[in-house]
Amino acid sequence: MAMNDSANILNSAYLAVEYIDSFLPDNPLQQPFKNAWNYMLDNYTKFQIATWGSLLVHEVSYFLLCVPGFIFQFIPFMQKYKIQPDKPETWEKQWKCFKTLLFNHFFIQLPLICGTYYFTEYFNIPYGWEEMPRWYILVGQCFGCAVIEDAWHYFLHRLLHHKRIYKYIHKVHHEFVSPFGMQAEYAHPLETLILGAGFFIGIVVFCNHVVLLWAWVICRLMETIDVHSGYDVPLNPLHLVPFYAGARFHDFHHMNFIGNYASTFTWWDRLFGTDSQFIAYQEKERKKQCVTKKKAN
Ligand SMILES: [Zn+2]
Ligand SMILES: [Zn+2]
Repeated sequence: MAMNDSANILNSAYLAVEYIDSFLPDNPLQQPFKNAWNYMLDNYTKFQIATWGSLLVHEVSYFLLCVPGFIFQFIPFMQKYKIQPDKPETWEKQWKCFKTLLFNHFFIQLPLICGTYYFTEYFNIPYGWEEMPRWYILVGQCFGCAVIEDAWHYFLHRLLHHKRIYKYIHKVHHEFVSPFGMQAEYAHPLETLILGAGFFIGIVVFCNHVVLLWAWVICRLMETIDVHSGYDVPLNPLHLVPFYAGARFHDFHHMNFIGNYASTFTWWDRLFGTDSQFIAYQEKERKKQCVTKKKAN
């Protein structure tokens, strides 16, 4: 009965979105995107697309998404949005981070990416333009992937903080108390494998086209680079996502080491009370700000 109700709700939601979509103007980028997609299909093999295409999407997205946060450190105006202003980024830290990232990307993640082609072949995942899901289906699938990854991340991340194993694996990611965007994937190779596994579960559940792999990579990178950026910038569109944790939430985890274990959403930490220190800290900061304002007046 409950399953039937859920299916009905999902079906109604799908029909409602489809109805709204029929009133939206045509996407002017659709034709150029279609041409580019078909050019790729005509000129490259499935293996090349799945392997080198996925690597390119990951590398380009990762470093492009790091650019805004990287530039903020040189703009004095942006410093008022830095969450831990007393701990600025240094060249030494960023260079060290960059070198480790390249190692992780090419020696840990690339071998995993090489499995993409075999995954799509095994499950008969299509590559064609005609089979590509509509944008609202892709958005729903990416959200579903994020919900699954977030649950995986919460429990495994919490486990990695266990005092008997913390120093062997997760300590690497916590080397920088005040995070910066590039640090998002700065981790011990084993952590890349353990926490990274959560990325693939949603793919196995939802994947009905190779484009989901790339859309989900971009969404996940947007989220993880944003929460590590070290800046809480106003009007950040990611905060439109319901229950989105954001940069202050994860920055506190790096500052405090305890609590705020989830990657994307706030619900697991709320449910298990692991955000209590964060809530108390925010309250203390609010009171401090009120006192400062009163003094200024
Ligand atoms: Zn941690
Ligand atoms: Zn982190």
